[in-house]
Amino acid sequence: MQNNLDFSKIKCFLLDMDGTVYLDGKVFDGAVNAINRMRERAKVLFITNNSSKSREDYVDKLTYLGIPVKPDEIYTAGHATIEYIIQNTKFRKIWLLGAHGLKEEFKASGLTIVNGTKLAPELVVVAFDTTLTYKDLAIVCEHIRHGVPFIATHPDFNCPMAGGEYIPDVGSFLALIKASTGKSPALICGKPYAPIAKSVGSLVHLAPNEIAMVGDRLMTDMNFAINNGFKSILVLSGEATRDDLAKSGMKVDAVINSISDINF
Ligand SMILES: [Mg+2]
Repeated sequence: MQNNLDFSKIKCFLLDMDGTVYLDGKVFDGAVNAINRMRERAKVLFITNNSSKSREDYVDKLTYLGIPVKPDEIYTAGHATIEYIIQNTKFRKIWLLGAHGLKEEFKASGLTIVNGTKLAPELVVVAFDTTLTYKDLAIVCEHIRHGVPFIATHPDFNCPMAGGEYIPDVGSFLALIKASTGKSPALICGKPYAPIAKSVGSLVHLAPNEIAMVGDRLMTDMNFAINNGFKSILVLSGEATRDDLAKSGMKVDAVINSISDINF
């Protein structure tokens, strides 16, 4: 453990979930107690780039794992994308490459999902859809090739699974789309980019240095903290190793083995 940070000065902890609180449905030892300790002193928000699930899905999942939460304590890249579309664009007819839960979340926010209808999309959104078909990929590329603007929920190439395995994530879909159409998304909403930080910032009303991001990935979680002036706490329970950190040259405020090392 390497720590240059006084945890007691933090007023809001942003917790990544996959690889930080749990891995493939199994909560890490000591995580529930650590989160309870944090909640006694600070606000705790759960923040994830995984846009395959809705806020309600995460409420159910965390509550089941022994961490009861309310929907407004959860920020997904999918939710940040919805807020971005509504607050910053006029686009309301969306072709969404996304799972059922996310489609419902878009609809509940007043957006129209045009998949499977005759309506022309004003915007294509690429999210994490583990049920996608070849036909979906072909339609996404067709719309983009014909000039429909497109954005993505998050940039991760892979999503971690139990046993050190990975499955292809949105960044991999974007590479396929780029190869087929020559085009990249106009914007990515999730970590490490600004839209999701703005979403969180508008909720907590704290100075950036009173907020700490706890996560297992350098390119998303730690860059997100550094880009937005938050304190950075790297956990070694997920993707990044101490070697990866050394090679990256990134300076983080604390490196801990697991979330259970956050003590006051
Ligand atoms: Mg993670």
